[in-house]
Amino acid sequence: MTDLHRLSVREMTEGLAAAQFSSRELTEHYLKRIEKIDAQVQSYVTVTPELALAEADAADALRKAGGAAALTGVPIAHKDIFCTHGIKTTAGSKMLDNFISPYDATVVAKGKVAGLVTLGKVNMDEFAMGSTSESSYFGATKNPWALDHVPGGSSGGSAAALAADLAPFATGTDTGGSIRQPASFCGLTGLKPTYGRVSRFGMIAYASSLDQGGPMARSAEDCAYLMNVMAGHDAKDSTSVEKDVDNYVANLNGTTVKGLRIGIPKQYFNVAGLDADVKARVEESLKKLEDMGAILVEIDLNMTESYVPTYYLIAPAEASSNLSRFDGVRYGYRAENPVDLMDLYKRSRSEGFGPEVQRRILIGTYALSAGYYDAYYVKAQKVRRLIQQDFLKAFESVDVIAAPSAPTTAYRIGANLSPVEMYLGDIYTIAVNLAGLPAINAPVGFDKDSLPVGLQLIGNYWSESQLLSVVHQYQQATDWHTKRAAIAEENA
Ligand code: GLN
Repeated sequence: MTDLHRLSVREMTEGLAAAQFSSRELTEHYLKRIEKIDAQVQSYVTVTPELALAEADAADALRKAGGAAALTGVPIAHKDIFCTHGIKTTAGSKMLDNFISPYDATVVAKGKVAGLVTLGKVNMDEFAMGSTSESSYFGATKNPWALDHVPGGSSGGSAAALAADLAPFATGTDTGGSIRQPASFCGLTGLKPTYGRVSRFGMIAYASSLDQGGPMARSAEDCAYLMNVMAGHDAKDSTSVEKDVDNYVANLNGTTVKGLRIGIPKQYFNVAGLDADVKARVEESLKKLEDMGAILVEIDLNMTESYVPTYYLIAPAEASSNLSRFDGVRYGYRAENPVDLMDLYKRSRSEGFGPEVQRRILIGTYALSAGYYDAYYVKAQKVRRLIQQDFLKAFESVDVIAAPSAPTTAYRIGANLSPVEMYLGDIYTIAVNLAGLPAINAPVGFDKDSLPVGLQLIGNYWSESQLLSVVHQYQQATDWHTKRAAIAEENA
């Protein structure tokens, strides 16, 4: 078969179960594609062909022995923020260029238990700080829809690998939009779960009260398969929640769009930087949902103007604390020939971290410093609570809230936005993390330059099944999620 990469994850599980192809064939197929096509996209930081083939053979043997689970033998790409035993984990940074983790992240370990085959590790903004994947020490990943554009970030490698059909699904992480925004820029489906649903153990920390891993794929159905693997309580993560997980695949038809109350926040559609095509496509998708029986309800989210300043205090504050562990002493990059300990610290950090990471460490350290702590950090925490309350109030009258995932489509590589311009692009995603809510991106069409546009649906706590189900219904009635970039049509 030459077109195994065209199959959905469900079709892969069916094909494997019916012995139409083996995991080795499927894995070799993807490895060939990566070898041929990824030079143009640069989505992978590390490809692990030998390991992948060994895992594929083990999966095939298990299947022959009758011990296979649904996903046994299906390949996956992991964002290079998840620690992988024996494989380099870089977080897109020079600081961790040679870091080999002695253990697997819980998400990776769960993938192994489910029988997933690791193709490799995919690129990202350095320490997940960014919206373009350009801040990676390993260079910019390209958007498969237009190679001179960014795939978004920080999970840009995951998105690009998927949009070029170089993996059937991928892990991502979302601290302020890093699953939803690259999914939007690359025409994919991506779910940011409720905070605490997916273990953060072994996921390199950016801002711990906001970080959450989640699935990225072409459809809600494919995301549901990966969510079944990723979700669940983990005693190794103190903020992981002890709450039963849903069967996200079995629940795909569990919600009907008919009668679903979708909140449309007035403030969101009047944001200054909202691109006219993005607005039009999102409105068309809402019209479609209305045709399917949803009830559109205008709502107020009065705290919208506070999102960016609040997030850009809290996230850097937590980052400055988390990243203090990279000091050149225990692991990671170490400056050469230090004259004393202070010189070792200073130069290891100045040479090992890129400019955006350094900027955030400085902002965060400032916001947490004795004289400014109350004025900045404490105040931001209070506003964070108000933002959360704003959402909870909205959920008293609606089931889900609709928004664009980003105000624009993908930027050009090297567009060189100022930090503040870049931060403003996060307006639609960051409040969800501040409130700890789940949200999903679904592709809903293209702009005038044929770049994908995404719709975001935000749900109440623990409503992952509902979000996946609503998008699944939408995807049964439309075909945006089946569109492929030209490069994905290339055969290896
Ligand atoms: N773009 C946002 C930031 O730079 C979000 C990143 C993320 O979710 N990891 O912080």
